[in-house]
Amino acid sequence: MKKVLLLIMMTSIFASCTQEQQTESDFQWVIDRFDDVKVIRYQVPEFDALPLEQKLMVYYLGEAAKCGRDIMFDQNFKYNLAIRRTLEGIYTNYMGDPNHEEWQKVVKYLKKVWFANGIHHHYSMDKFQPEFSQEYFVKLVEATPDEALPLDFGTREELLAAIVPAMFDSSLYARRLDQSEGVDMITASANNYYDGVTQKEVEKFYADMIDHNDPQPISYGLNSQLTKDASGKVVERVWKQGGMYGEAIDKILYWLEKASEVTNDTQKPIIDALCEYYRSGNLRDFDKYNVLWVQDVESPIDFVNGFIEDYGDPMGRKASWEANVSLRSDEATKRTQIISENAQWFEDNSPINPAFRKPEVKGVSAKVINVAMLGGDCYPATPIGINLPNADWIRRDYGSKSVTIDNITYAYDQAAKGNGFDEEFILREEDRARINEFGSLGDNLHTDLHECLGHGSGQLAPGTKGGELKNYGSTLEEARADLFGLYYLGDEKLVELGLVPSLDVAKAQYASYIVNGMMTQYSRIELGKDVEEAHMRNRKLIAEWCYEKGKADNVIEWVTENGKRYLVVNDFDKLRELFGQMLYEVQRIKSEGDFETGKALVENYGVKIDPELHKEVLERYNALNIEPFGGFINPELVPVMKGDKIVDVKVEYVDSYVDQMLNYSKNYSFLPTRN
Ligand code: ZN
Repeated sequence: MKKVLLLIMMTSIFASCTQEQQTESDFQWVIDRFDDVKVIRYQVPEFDALPLEQKLMVYYLGEAAKCGRDIMFDQNFKYNLAIRRTLEGIYTNYMGDPNHEEWQKVVKYLKKVWFANGIHHHYSMDKFQPEFSQEYFVKLVEATPDEALPLDFGTREELLAAIVPAMFDSSLYARRLDQSEGVDMITASANNYYDGVTQKEVEKFYADMIDHNDPQPISYGLNSQLTKDASGKVVERVWKQGGMYGEAIDKILYWLEKASEVTNDTQKPIIDALCEYYRSGNLRDFDKYNVLWVQDVESPIDFVNGFIEDYGDPMGRKASWEANVSLRSDEATKRTQIISENAQWFEDNSPINPAFRKPEVKGVSAKVINVAMLGGDCYPATPIGINLPNADWIRRDYGSKSVTIDNITYAYDQAAKGNGFDEEFILREEDRARINEFGSLGDNLHTDLHECLGHGSGQLAPGTKGGELKNYGSTLEEARADLFGLYYLGDEKLVELGLVPSLDVAKAQYASYIVNGMMTQYSRIELGKDVEEAHMRNRKLIAEWCYEKGKADNVIEWVTENGKRYLVVNDFDKLRELFGQMLYEVQRIKSEGDFETGKALVENYGVKIDPELHKEVLERYNALNIEPFGGFINPELVPVMKGDKIVDVKVEYVDSYVDQMLNYSKNYSFLPTRN
């Protein structure tokens, strides 16, 4: 619920901005391309200037961020580690012709598995269909020596009996996450958060556990797999030291403890609290850690490390393991500081029912960061903004920390330079010019407003508990935060605060938002499929709703030229009014927990794609040869040793996606193949 993925797909070409180090024209941003993905490198500006203790802290936390990679693979699907390790064994022992056509397809599949942390697409959640034959694969396995195969799984026969159908039978484990109406979401989803239990059993298990009178409710289920013991009783296997995933957690702890030794007095208790939680697995300890973590808004180095986001669980309970390490960007943080300092003004003027406004906005801390390491669910595909923690009571009592990740957005922009996207999809020259000039600023500000203020704004009506909107909750929550951002982007207040030079920034953002929501984001979806992902549903929902409500006034218009369809915004002021009206309604739905209206809104506007339009978008998009998804490889943080002492840490930019993946699998892989 609290992540923003790249809002607008590469809409802009910028000479841009920020750090000197990044303007090197010879830096190769895109390092690999395959399937629908490009792999980008990001830079870590200002790292070299850090004092040694901070460099060490980044290094130790960075090592901790790499140690949980296997957890993410196993959480996504129970045979992911077996499949990845088998493929890696094949890859490193292959003696045949590297240009052999079918072999190339195996390599592509392996690259996709690395990218998605498993055999399901990281975004659509659909299983990859191998383009090579089962026979060819089995022959490759036969030619691979025992020591290169994950035979801790079982014999060769047992290994193949498990992974071959999993890879090749398209009817098996078809979707990592399935939230379709009417299915048992637990058994239909291939993820490994549950094993051998039904949706009914899961619902009962947690309903019995929850204490509705607890003012500080525990996020039950967050850090465990739910399964059955030998006697058939439903039980949790907790992810902690000595528990499930304990082998990886030991290594994470090792590096966190190192970081604790070099950190400042503010952060030491925070890291120690996180270690305590990894040892105990007690979710009260996790809350304690979060309460400390969210209050530290001053430290220049910060991190995320743990079981955090629940997007991958159809019940929204189990969290995937993720990590990042970041440096604050002081210059860019001024922008978000202005926004947070005025948080109360934004809340008081929000176009919602005054009863649903927060009387007192608390602790909205926002900063702009540069990441130095990505791990788990943030690697290689990463969000560009994060707002944590997720527990509602901590947000209520202590606020939340919100970040925009500057060097990732910057790398995306650099990688998209000159790709022809705007020329293909934005009809009017005036819109293209505004997007060219203000697109980046608009994207960043929209992310800031969405993260710092949008998610934190508003309050529930008495009697509403939260959670009433069930599987429509995350789409509607993203819509609420997006609408908040869109509405205020067009407010004179932003000019007054010096955040934008003029409201042309809003016009640029509005034009690209609508085109993306009703059109270009379909490039990420396979023909014949509906929109599933919450952020995508939210964008479509907003654009389609405004289109329909503004139809009488021709606010947004479909134009056909030379046989191609375009969307243009004719009236930006009216569109802003519509954003305000929609925010009023979406806030009401959340505050009152109005499931039926919320469901109707999402189903009517956010899900179904016109197949003709979808086909056209895919054709035009594919003709541009732009991969619709991007992800990142990490730099290497290399300690400089004097004897057994680290005297400096250097950033090195690696130039091979394959090498980094093999390196991580060799040196940061701690889990058994079966968990
Ligand atoms: Zn969000």
